[in-house]
Amino acid sequence: MSLLVVGSVALDSVETPFGKAEDVLGGSATYFSASASHQTPVQLVGVVGSDYPVEQLQALSARQVDLAGLEQAEGESFRWRGRYRHDLNSADTLETRLGVFSHFRPKLPEGFKSAQFVFLANIDPRLQLQVLEQVTKPKFVACDTMNFWIESRRGDLLDLLGRVDLITLNDGEARQLTEQANLVQAARWILARGPKTVLIKKGEHGAFMFTRDSIFYAPAYPLEAVFDPTGAGDSFAGGFMGYLARTNDLSEANLRRAVVLGSAMGSFVVEAFSITRLLSVTRADIDRRVADFHRLVSFDQGMTS
Ligand code: AMP
Repeated sequence: MSLLVVGSVALDSVETPFGKAEDVLGGSATYFSASASHQTPVQLVGVVGSDYPVEQLQALSARQVDLAGLEQAEGESFRWRGRYRHDLNSADTLETRLGVFSHFRPKLPEGFKSAQFVFLANIDPRLQLQVLEQVTKPKFVACDTMNFWIESRRGDLLDLLGRVDLITLNDGEARQLTEQANLVQAARWILARGPKTVLIKKGEHGAFMFTRDSIFYAPAYPLEAVFDPTGAGDSFAGGFMGYLARTNDLSEANLRRAVVLGSAMGSFVVEAFSITRLLSVTRADIDRRVADFHRLVSFDQGMTS
């Protein structure tokens, strides 16, 4: 099934306790596509400026990412500068420069309008809404967001909530959006506003999936070394949505498998800067990691009572 994503296509400058990278390929849509394309073809909608090294995106088109919806506009590309200290769970944003995204009006190529699975990756909620309006009859729509937009575009974000099937956000963002300290209550708050499913990520502590009548938890893969956490959330979303689009099955059991696929993809991306690791990972690597997850959480209940 077709999978469409709109989000940032960025140049990132990142500092972690282990090294620094300047102006490398980043952005929510970039990470998402590199991850999801291991499962299914992806249609990308976004904009880059005249300074963007578009030839580096070849690596994505070589991996079944259709860039027909990526505009190149006069001006500066979206730039994000972040730093991770020893707590690799949350980034300090040092600078966000929207550049060409501040005047971007997404226009979907004809062939993208019939997309069945849609991911509105982290970007201005007004752009997320504009893309959604152009998709004819999607089967499943999910979105992401972050503190930057929760603070500056709260009203649009609440509108968006009423129009998506699922939202994914990290624990801090869930608390900020809902003003609820307890994550179960935060999830209930969101479920009451539209989405049937809420995915709350807790970095190295795994991810929860909430529906009206169930809670599922998947741990994060216990990596010995995390090099750069940037893009973990988007790669998680890419694995999750890519798997759903490939299998075209929205049952609870399949959503749970998709969460594990997402966790596996999130665990690869953090092994190197930018999308490097997502480009080198193989189907066999992914299968092995999913099997590791299975071993990690399986136990024989035996005589526990
Ligand atoms: P994450 O998966 O949450 O680590 O997302 C990291 C990516 O989000 C980076 O590559 C950034 O370029 C991108 N990003 C950071 N801030 C924003 C923002 N306000 N809107 C859209 N994308 C952003």
